[in-house]
Amino acid sequence: PIDVIKVLMHNGIMASINQRIDYETAALVAHEFGFEPREQRPPEAVEEEGPSLLWQRLYAGEDPSKLKPRPPVVVVLGHVDHGKTTLLDAIRRTNVAAQEVGQITQRIGAYQVEYNGRKITFLDTPGHEAFTQMRARGAQVTDIAVLVVAADDGVMPQTREALAHARAARLPIIVALNKIDKPTANIERVMSQLAELGLVPQEYGGDTIVVKVSAKQRIGIEDLLEAILLVAETREIKANPDRPAVGTVIDARVDRRGPVATLLVQNGTLKQGDIIVAGATYGRVRAMFDDRGRPLKKAPPSTPVEVLGLSDVPEAGDLFEVAESERQARELAERRAAERQRQRQVRRMSLEDLYRRMQA
Ligand code: GDP
Ligand code: MG
Repeated sequence: PIDVIKVLMHNGIMASINQRIDYETAALVAHEFGFEPREQRPPEAVEEEGPSLLWQRLYAGEDPSKLKPRPPVVVVLGHVDHGKTTLLDAIRRTNVAAQEVGQITQRIGAYQVEYNGRKITFLDTPGHEAFTQMRARGAQVTDIAVLVVAADDGVMPQTREALAHARAARLPIIVALNKIDKPTANIERVMSQLAELGLVPQEYGGDTIVVKVSAKQRIGIEDLLEAILLVAETREIKANPDRPAVGTVIDARVDRRGPVATLLVQNGTLKQGDIIVAGATYGRVRAMFDDRGRPLKKAPPSTPVEVLGLSDVPEAGDLFEVAESERQARELAERRAAERQRQRQVRRMSLEDLYRRMQA
């Protein structure tokens, strides 16, 4: 048990010895110990089990006839140095007018691009740490995973890990086979490595889309965007824009303007002036900006926005929702703050207990 708890801690989950963990988390631990986990329930049973708690909160009382397509939300995962950051940059630049490129300095944790008149939202926090941490906190924000694999290096330990995360989250996976410009690139070799992992490329008769790209030379970027839109089409990626907003905190910090939070609207539309509760913080949305710093009055589903007006800095992975009144928002935020304080104390006690056991 101590080894299991250590692995959990390593992944940012402070679990006590008798705590229940969900399948995804358990799968992660199993992987760390070199096991290939398999969920016992068949996937159909999971569907029948009904909506998850998160889904219930995001879509509570939703009339299915009001759901409309929304942009897919994509996360980029992969081994260190295989080109995640470069790829996210290349995608972002593809969509920005040349004279604007110099102005992209701001990073808000997520951005949106438009391709052939359709939008795609990218989480701009590459690496699976941020993704894992958010998921460990129950946040579920992504629809599609792009797994970056360098064509010279091939499948590496973190490629497998990233794949395990994407699978545990049941995300459709698109492979971006990067660095094809390198003379040392060995595409055939990587293709067969992928096939061994169960990601059989379409060219090999499988159903995994593998897009050959060079993030550095910006080759294949549009093919990748096209592949994302293609996969998105096969999924029910929908929300109701005509209701108060609900979503997740992607990132938060304090700057000279006070607490600044990047929120991803997942259902409903967030409007300037709305009163929101975000985790244990609350406030009126005083101003909203898109990922290029342009002011916004409204943010429909799948839009990442930078929001000013919160009382404090929420945590990444916190849910946010529009409240009915400032008073209701404040009360809810204060109750949560007190509950978190209590949980921190409980955790500290169980950690101290753990250290004692480890030393014993
Ligand atoms: P990350 O750790 O996955 O975010 O990887 P980075 O985006 O930081 O890239 C790691 C290194 O690989 C950097 O030196 C990049 O310039 C380089 N790189 C990324 N993409 C390509 C590519 O398509 N071709 C080549 N030749 N180098 C690349
Ligand atoms: Mg990086």
